[in-house]
Amino acid sequence: MNTIQKQYGTFDILPDKVKVWQYVESVIRKITVNYGFDEIRFPTFESTELFTRSVGGTTDIVQKEMYTFNDRDKRSLSLRPEGTACVVRSIIENGLVFNAMPLKLYYIANFFRHEKAQKGRSREFWQFGIEIFGSDSPSADATAIMLANSVFTALGVKDVKLHLNSIGCDECRPAYREKLVEYLTANSEALCPICKERLQTNPLRVLDCKIDSCKKVSENAPKSTDHLCSDCDEHFKQLQQLLTECGVDFVIDTNIVRGLDYYTKTVFEFIDESIGAQSTVCGGGRYSKLVEILGGPKTDAVGFGMGITRLLAAMENSGSIPELKSAPKLYIAPIGNRAKQKAFILTEVLRANKIYAECDLCNRSVKAQMKYADKIGAEAVIVMGDNELDIGKAQIKNMQTGESKETELTSEALINLLNF
Ligand SMILES: [Zn+2]
Ligand SMILES: [Zn+2]
Repeated sequence: MNTIQKQYGTFDILPDKVKVWQYVESVIRKITVNYGFDEIRFPTFESTELFTRSVGGTTDIVQKEMYTFNDRDKRSLSLRPEGTACVVRSIIENGLVFNAMPLKLYYIANFFRHEKAQKGRSREFWQFGIEIFGSDSPSADATAIMLANSVFTALGVKDVKLHLNSIGCDECRPAYREKLVEYLTANSEALCPICKERLQTNPLRVLDCKIDSCKKVSENAPKSTDHLCSDCDEHFKQLQQLLTECGVDFVIDTNIVRGLDYYTKTVFEFIDESIGAQSTVCGGGRYSKLVEILGGPKTDAVGFGMGITRLLAAMENSGSIPELKSAPKLYIAPIGNRAKQKAFILTEVLRANKIYAECDLCNRSVKAQMKYADKIGAEAVIVMGDNELDIGKAQIKNMQTGESKETELTSEALINLLNF
């Protein structure tokens, strides 16, 4: 019969890799605790309207990439393409938006976009994200950035560089946008077909196009940072000062605009050039209009999303993926039925006492069991048959040194020995 393959753009995470994922997640969770963030979990699918209203109807995500379908009740639903809209929907619906501020939340979740699969991009992908609600202070932006920076440091990622920009607010962005459109229109000949479209719908996005001719046009384009109102300008300066004082290196990069409509003021990306074309490991910014757009009270907000696969690629390039093994402290190799039963019970008692122990489940010969114990990296092995059971004692062999010593075959004796 034919076997069934995974879907294009999806991937399995096999046991060896899962160990690394768990390690990364545990580091992330520890850091979020120190920063006072609580985890939030939200549904895998939401109403399509949530994303058209928040992410923006003119974005690639909504126009081309969402997994949108009608369910059996003919409602238009979409698999979540990103996390921020889901978090905002949830805190409004559940009244968290009226809690004491700041409200600091994080998630580790999978998202779905119908993209051309390539290195660093897949149709189901995982992100760690944080959101800080209720503060318009640059120190909230700095907190988000410092948290991301702490994750990179803790995971030994060496080559990420922080790119920082401010794209202004409702006060100053329209005038800047006009100047930008004027400039891009004058140079539209050189733009790629997609950017010619973007010029009409989402002109800021032309600035982060990766095609050479567009990049050239962007180089001389008017810069958002030259057109900030005094409020945005002051905010941006204070943020830079905080980061400098915390010893974080960054570059001002006015081509960082983020793809989504809801950003205001600060936008940033952590970029690792060494991992290939999809080099943005973390991206985020301030989105102080989104809660209102989704029907909540006016609430300041800043956050980021960090791609787990790209984070792992960055760790790999930094040589910082640790070797993670879980090897049993003891393997019990029984000979004969009586010993089998005793081995099973001893193993269970050890496990109940938080000691990782294994015994034979496959009715192997002693020789095959020794080979298996070696393969799974057992630290010690006991071989026991009727004779050992009769005298209540057996040899325990240290697999590293090859030394053996006698032990009583009671759980107490073994626990004492193994906890040492
Ligand atoms: Zn402004
Ligand atoms: Zn382009």
